[in-house]
Amino acid sequence: MAEKKVLITGDRPTGKLHIGHYVGSLKNRVQMQNSGEYDPYIMIADKQAFTDNARDPEKVHRSVLEVALDYLAVGIDPQKSTIFIQTAVPELSELTEYFLNLVSIARLQRNPTVKTEIQQKGFGESIPAGFFIYPVSQAADIALFKGEVVPVGDDQEPMIEQTRELVRTFNRYYGADLLVEPTGVFPPKGQGRIPGLDGNAKMSKSLNNAIYMSDDEDTLWAKVKTMYTDPEHIRVTDPGHVEGNMVFTYLDIFDPDEDRVAELKAQYRAGGLGDMKIKKYLFEVLNAQLMPMRERRARYAQDPAAVMQMLADGSAKARQKAQATMQELRAAMGINYWN
Ligand code: ATP
Ligand code: MG
Repeated sequence: MAEKKVLITGDRPTGKLHIGHYVGSLKNRVQMQNSGEYDPYIMIADKQAFTDNARDPEKVHRSVLEVALDYLAVGIDPQKSTIFIQTAVPELSELTEYFLNLVSIARLQRNPTVKTEIQQKGFGESIPAGFFIYPVSQAADIALFKGEVVPVGDDQEPMIEQTRELVRTFNRYYGADLLVEPTGVFPPKGQGRIPGLDGNAKMSKSLNNAIYMSDDEDTLWAKVKTMYTDPEHIRVTDPGHVEGNMVFTYLDIFDPDEDRVAELKAQYRAGGLGDMKIKKYLFEVLNAQLMPMRERRARYAQDPAAVMQMLADGSAKARQKAQATMQELRAAMGINYWN
């Protein structure tokens, strides 16, 4: 049997996961996990969460369990995937430090995702140094596990590229084939960056514009109801625009019945299809997909101690693997003085 490929990815515990995470990354992960072709490592990136939440340790702490529950809800299976917490593997910080010497500040300044996030987060002149270098820490996460495939959303493309560069440099300096160049696995076109409810380019935990996978029916309806449509579509009989209309943007992504969506678009454009009616339809589509997740989540949420134990087991296994690789790397760097 062919060796299973190491899959690695993760999420920051900065809140519950949303439907953007689902289509952007979780869906691919679950499919890959179930294909049996991969050895998946799924990381709850608490260390990275601190890079822009240093003042809110309570939020990071609380969100670890929430993210773990979201994983279980979508079908990440601890029997098949190693789910672990980043800070439980301190070797990741060690490799980050060595990696930092292999990249210039100018190179880090060119990362387009970090640039956008710095603006969004309003850091101004006070960008936390840890935040600025987080792509390097992410590269260490991927490289230390010798990750070969990384299922992520479109915003992570520059991070994968940065990782490939760091791996190449590390191998050049300390020994060929020590670390592996990873490949990003991105969602189908148009699904790699789900826009927010407010029409913002990205649905994000930190921007308050998300539909969470755990939202109950009332919350879901309340959010869909207030979604941005077409401001010129005032009377039901008025012709409406579907471009830039969030309801249709979401239908394109979430409704598997493409013919039906095409029909609805035609009707909306011609006039005669009301916003409430189309929103009700979107609600039904989303609700049908979220219902089984909600139910599974509620079941696991009844026993948080068992979920934390699952994370402890996964973290112990992940640390063992990381320690083994770190030993190899130390030897290659000549810093294994006593053996
Ligand atoms: P934060 O605002 O705290 O950064 P986030 O919503 O960006 O949170 P992350 O934990 O940073 O979430 O990202 C986890 C994964 O989800 C990454 O692979 C990322 O590409 C993907 N992802 C995040 N937001 C979206 C989105 N709106 N559409 C598609 N994929 C997304
Ligand atoms: Mg993010």
